[in-house]
Amino acid sequence: MKQDDKAWLQCINCHTIYPLNYSGYICVKCGDLLDVVLDLDKVEVRDWRVFNDRARGVWRYRELIPVDYSKRVTLNEGGTPLIECNRLNRWVGLKKLYIKFEGANPTGSFKDRGMTVAITKALDLNVKGVICASTGNTAASLAAYSARAGLPCITVIPEQAALGKVFQAIAHGAIIVRIRGSFDQALRFVFSKAEELGYYILNSVNAWRLEGQKTLGYEIAEEIKNEYSIFIPVGNCGNIAAVWKGLTELKNLDLIKDAPRMIGVQAEGASPFAKMVKENRESLQPIDNPETIASAIRIGRPVNWKKALRAVRESRGDAVIVSDKEILEAQTAIARLEGLGVEPASAASIAGAKKAVEEGGVDSDETVVCICTGHLLKDPNPELFKPKTLIEIEPDEEKLVKELTEIISNRAIQAIN
Ligand SMILES: *Cc1c(COP(=O)(O)O)cnc(C)c1O
Ligand SMILES: [Zn+2]
Repeated sequence: MKQDDKAWLQCINCHTIYPLNYSGYICVKCGDLLDVVLDLDKVEVRDWRVFNDRARGVWRYRELIPVDYSKRVTLNEGGTPLIECNRLNRWVGLKKLYIKFEGANPTGSFKDRGMTVAITKALDLNVKGVICASTGNTAASLAAYSARAGLPCITVIPEQAALGKVFQAIAHGAIIVRIRGSFDQALRFVFSKAEELGYYILNSVNAWRLEGQKTLGYEIAEEIKNEYSIFIPVGNCGNIAAVWKGLTELKNLDLIKDAPRMIGVQAEGASPFAKMVKENRESLQPIDNPETIASAIRIGRPVNWKKALRAVRESRGDAVIVSDKEILEAQTAIARLEGLGVEPASAASIAGAKKAVEEGGVDSDETVVCICTGHLLKDPNPELFKPKTLIEIEPDEEKLVKELTEIISNRAIQAIN
């Protein structure tokens, strides 16, 4: 390494350093994960004003993302709304609740934040093509960004991927490989075959993905100045680590005083990370058959668990486990109390906040930000929502009016009772 380098890749375990043009994903010495590390003394950001005059989004923070900004592959990702919830907060049991609505990203999930940076890097590395294993959202995002970059793309999905996500990957022209098995098996397949194919892996084991996703932390910190906690759904453990990386950088740059607590939420049937945190263990016990309705977090062997554990420990955070029933109740509550449509995995953050309030992990007068990671339309499963009222009727106006009048007045009576 040259002394004047502003950034490099570094092993999180043995701290071996690699140059930014290293095209591997893990440390060749010890096999552990890599981080992108910025020399913050050399970053020309001393206050928030640097960003003020720029459009919202990932590239607003370009000084803190060590890839060539002029060659970025972007769909204007990030800059998602932070929405104060004045009805849902009471359901959750909180005075102040915000939803960071990541469904507003170009392909409908936060994965786009990582993909804009990682695909920019892929072009810089001159790769032949890109490949990922995905429960769906990574596939949708990778397919879109590789289409924009003109790079061939292979997505390997498990048997039970959500319909909307697969539809996106197909639409953007990716090669779809459906494995008769789980996400974890899909990922193992990708790891064993990518090199042979000469394709670059864009799962969250790739540190460049997290380098884009960290801007989620920047955006929240730029908007909320008082104390708060973050609740975030956890699957492969990448995003919670990325958000924490962003917040840590802001703290080290003196752009924020205190960083929030990071609270990871997992579904009961897929909670190896949350169990490790709750039992205060130092290593993860993987599970072979993860099961939950929230397909985006149906993961039994989270790759980034070490980075995520660091995020929870350093932030004095925690983990919460919620049932599928609690996730679905939260998804319905968000949709009907706030008009916000999120997919089940996203609703886990709200379900987790509600549970933490009930169990005393958060105080009702604390400010909470829930990250809602993906859009409702990703998973258009008719089993998830039943209509509140469904009228089936012949095209006869008189009958319709009569029936509606009855229903509305019954409703009025129910409301009074
Ligand atoms: C990917 C994803 C997650 C999980 O993020 P990890 O980085 O794998 O922990 C949660 N929700 C949605 C909607 C996702 O697409
Ligand atoms: Zn190492």
